[in-house]
Amino acid sequence: VPIEPPVSSPRSLDEAYALLAAEPYRPMAGATDLLVQITGELGPPPERVLDLWGLTELRGISVDGDRLRIGALATFAELRTAPEILRELPALAEASATIGAAQIQNRATIGGNIVNASPAGDSLPLLLATDAELVLGSGRGERTVAASSFWPAYRETARAADELLLRIEIPLVAGRTVRYRKVGTRRAQAISKVVMALAWRVDGAGPGWREVRLALGSVAPTPIRARRTEQVIEGYPPSDQVAARARDTLADELEPIDDVRSTAEYRRTVAARVLHRLLRDEGGW
Ligand SMILES: Cc1cc2nc3c(=O)[nH]c(=O)nc-3n(C[C@H](O)[C@H](O)[C@H](O)COP(=O)(O)OP(=O)(O)OC[C@H]3O[C@@H](n4cnc5c(N)ncnc54)[C@H](O)[C@@H]3O)c2cc1C
Repeated sequence: VPIEPPVSSPRSLDEAYALLAAEPYRPMAGATDLLVQITGELGPPPERVLDLWGLTELRGISVDGDRLRIGALATFAELRTAPEILRELPALAEASATIGAAQIQNRATIGGNIVNASPAGDSLPLLLATDAELVLGSGRGERTVAASSFWPAYRETARAADELLLRIEIPLVAGRTVRYRKVGTRRAQAISKVVMALAWRVDGAGPGWREVRLALGSVAPTPIRARRTEQVIEGYPPSDQVAARARDTLADELEPIDDVRSTAEYRRTVAARVLHRLLRDEGGW
């Protein structure tokens, strides 16, 4: 039997909030995750679906002072090419290009990636590494949750049932560099075995890496920061020794699982090597 829950398509955010306040709805953005989950094989199908696609309030990419604002409905195709992203956070354009392939990128939204809360969601480590803030809204008002608190446990989020993710706000930090790496089976349509984002800043105080943020996906039940490894990089100028110590610390710090995509040992080894290579590339030797 086909599963066809009723779909409501509000024309404004206020209309969406009113619907959500009255009855439980499953929000739907690009539906690239939702339609896979709607068959009922992976859990109970949604009773009612709230189609967000027409909500212009959830669109737009802009720079406001020292913040990059990204509407939850921004698709990865938009993020690949938006001048603001290419200028301010090119690593996000790069990450967007690795998600699915062109057809998926045309529909898949960053908000859907965030709320779907897969540990393999490719944009999530970048949001952790850049101290992103997630703005949620409901008829009760808006609130902001740090990306670092948004995924408390496997496939769980800090979102309440009547809340929508409205936008992502990323602080733009002078002198910051952000790098992204994804390891999958193919160059397209691959679920990550390891996904990594590394951010750091250089300042006048010396040649060292500062404000180091190392975040990973697909190596734990949620996207994570590798804080112990960050500490062995923080403050040091690039060198062979620091790169090697960071590699060994990360291999020790991660506790990935075995699953159908790869073994824990593979993930640990690959994550450590990817970090090693990244630090060496950036160190310039
Ligand atoms: C063939 C294929 C390849 C894929 N490849 C990748 C890949 O390489 N990397 C990757 O990370 N993912 C991949 N995905 C998964 C998926 O495309 C992404 O997670 C995508 O970002 C989901 O966005 P969406 O807009 O389609 O979300 P939807 O399917 O519409 O929604 C996903 C979840 O988020 C909720 N939701 C969506 N938007 C909001 C909002 N604004 N407020 C509140 N709740 C909301 C929905 O209720 C649902 O629970 C792939 C999927 C397919 C089918």
